[in-house]
Amino acid sequence: MHRAAANPYNTNLPSRGVVKCSRCGLNAVTFIRYNGTHLCHQHFVEYVEKRVKREIRKQLSIDGPMKIAVGLSGGKDSSVALVLLKKILEDRRDVEIHAISVDEGIEGYRPPSLEKAAELTRELGVQHHIVYFRDEFGTSMDAIAPSSGFRTPCTFCGVLRRKCLNKKAIEIGADVIATGLNLDDTVQSIMMNFTRGDVERLARLGPHVKVQSGLIPRIQPLRSIPEKESYLYAMLEGIGFSDDECPYSDPALRNDYREIIDSLENRSPGSRFSILASYDAIAPLLREKYPPAKLKRCECGEPSLGTRCKACELLDELIGVDQTKS
Ligand code: SF4
Ligand SMILES: [Zn+2]
Ligand SMILES: [Zn+2]
Repeated sequence: MHRAAANPYNTNLPSRGVVKCSRCGLNAVTFIRYNGTHLCHQHFVEYVEKRVKREIRKQLSIDGPMKIAVGLSGGKDSSVALVLLKKILEDRRDVEIHAISVDEGIEGYRPPSLEKAAELTRELGVQHHIVYFRDEFGTSMDAIAPSSGFRTPCTFCGVLRRKCLNKKAIEIGADVIATGLNLDDTVQSIMMNFTRGDVERLARLGPHVKVQSGLIPRIQPLRSIPEKESYLYAMLEGIGFSDDECPYSDPALRNDYREIIDSLENRSPGSRFSILASYDAIAPLLREKYPPAKLKRCECGEPSLGTRCKACELLDELIGVDQTKS
């Protein structure tokens, strides 16, 4: 889900010269409420990078040549994930980083963000692959959205985009796909699945620890980085990103969880980390109880639970609906 943001991230910036960095005494650029520290530009950047480095080490064992495909939308989180992976792994000659963007065909929204993605990959010298819904499925989100019926456009978009990413990642020989999911996204997903009682889905939340044939595992380098910190990192480091809102976004449900979690965090700073830590503690038990199902292969070539993959099933629902709009 891509969010709108006319600066929705209260980054706690103090007025210049008033508050000093808790580590070096220079002017602070932010206050980290959950640990009570003020940080200057340099110490904030180091603070973020240190945790992302730890996440990468935890989620990825690099014991030979490796290719990482970053799912790059041109938004702040995936752009920050790409920049950080590139920076943290720059000395690893055996690691190749690529970026994959998906053009779902959303006029006025996707082209500018793809432009940002292209600029960033040019700056970083990263190979950029773009997959088009129009080429893959002969349709676009602008055509699908009006006919999505009882489903939300995001249901179609998410499933089809996952398929595009997985397929392209296989095509370029990637070992993992890195996404820009941050701490807030992760905790919202955990709470949503808990509340729905969807324990099986809870067991399957990334990062993926088991490799399944035909499915490229996912890593989440920003998993322990709050959204505000990802935003501030992008601003301070001059990373160009698009903050436009998708015209089909229906953030209602996720917004409820966002509000609940934000108010928990306000009342008791550090709550998001506690929820994540509790999830991580029970995740191995959940995975043991709900091991990944044996996957079949859909006629389109994608791995799937049933005889047809979710993308093909959803596309079947559109049969007979005019898909000519681009
Ligand atoms: S349709 Fe939904 S999932 Fe797709 S880009 Fe828009 S908000 Fe994101
Ligand atoms: Zn400092
Ligand atoms: Zn299929």
